Amino acid sequence: MKIECLICLKETAIPNNLNTQKYDGQITCRECGSLLQVKLVKSKVEQCKVVRAGHPSLSADEVLKAAREAKKEGKRFLRG
Ligand SMILES: [Zn+2]
Repeated sequence: MKIECLICLKETAIPNNLNTQKYDGQITCRECGSLLQVKLVKSKVEQCKVVRAGHPSLSADEVLKAAREAKKEGKRFLRG
């Protein structure tokens, strides 16, 4: 399965050896290197939060804010 990174908003693959039926731990995004705390139950993401943003020059909050803005912009763009 894959999980959407909260920082770069790209899907990152969860390692095959990880038990997605029940997992509560950290995953590193392969795209941006961010560290995410995830909780998986029955192959679904129950909880996901940023532990450390991959971009070194921005704090997690700043990156999150930027990502949210970008997402909003994208939605607006799609709606025309
Ligand atoms: Zn990422």
